[in-house]
Amino acid sequence: MSQRSPEGGGARGARGARGGRPDRPQTVLVVTGREQLTPGMVRVRFEAADKEVFAAGFGPSAYTDRYVKMSFPQPDGSDIVRTYTALEPDVEGGTVAIDFVVHGTEGIAGPWAAAVEPGQRIAVRGPGGAYSPDPTADWHLLACDESGLPAVRAALAALPAEAQGYAVVHVPDAAHRQELTAPAGVQVSWVTSTEPGALVDAVRALPWRAGRVHAFVHGEAEAVMHGIRPYLVKERALPRADLSISGYWRRGRTEEGFRAWKQELAAAEG
Ligand SMILES: Cc1cc2nc3c(=O)[nH]c(=O)nc-3n(C[C@H](O)[C@H](O)[C@H](O)COP(=O)(O)OP(=O)(O)OC[C@H]3O[C@@H](n4cnc5c(N)ncnc54)[C@H](O)[C@@H]3O)c2cc1C
Repeated sequence: MSQRSPEGGGARGARGARGGRPDRPQTVLVVTGREQLTPGMVRVRFEAADKEVFAAGFGPSAYTDRYVKMSFPQPDGSDIVRTYTALEPDVEGGTVAIDFVVHGTEGIAGPWAAAVEPGQRIAVRGPGGAYSPDPTADWHLLACDESGLPAVRAALAALPAEAQGYAVVHVPDAAHRQELTAPAGVQVSWVTSTEPGALVDAVRALPWRAGRVHAFVHGEAEAVMHGIRPYLVKERALPRADLSISGYWRRGRTEEGFRAWKQELAAAEG
């Protein structure tokens, strides 16, 4: 079960890989455009400053949850690192997109994405990744909030046409819904609520299907790790190998504070 964090809140499964470590290649990306997708999300498009370096790092990969560690330089010379899903990497063309949740004026990456202009440069390391939908599963369960939506979008695009299952996406209100293409047998539902636990309730309410499920569940950490994980692991007895689950952010904590929370959680769970 790849329920660990990219920063090392536990070991990933054998297929997993981590981004952001010094041994991962660093690529400089140049912003080529910014598009407002919804009131809460912007898509920023990038082109690699050096396409060969980009191709070496992004090379062929089957993982749909590929993520990069972005370094935001600070006035004191330090870097603040933030983690984002790398969407639609074009290895030969040297381009990639990132969909950023714009969650107000707090933080580093959200405000940066809201205001960024073409020509700006940013260094990234990665990508890491650990999940791609298993085509042999009987059905798929994809659940996320807006932070996990880019990875769920990529997973839906990689599913075979005959795939069955559910994709459940939690957004604050209907204006935050986006176009999402899914195989006919995968039922997409949008949970529009400002209640933090709404995704938990929605996942619990899904009619459980027979057969082997492959699940991908990522979003706010409390909802995912303390709400959905016990449901899937204990009540539904999902085998570890069939579940990719982790918090992507933690309400009330910066990414640094969230990393500390994950370490505490991992230590508490041994
Ligand atoms: C593997 C992985 C992939 C990810 N992919 C994406 C992605 O593609 N797109 C994306 O938007 N995020 C993604 N995230 C989540 C993202 O890394 C965090 O949301 C990060 O904290 C944002 O940094 P920040 O500088 O904007 O805010 P921070 O400085 O980290 O936090 C400032 C404040 O904003 C709050 N906050 C942070 N994120 C959110 C949010 N999403 N909604 C509401 N409040 C928030 C924090 O709780 C804190 O109070 C991913 C995380 C991981 C681990």
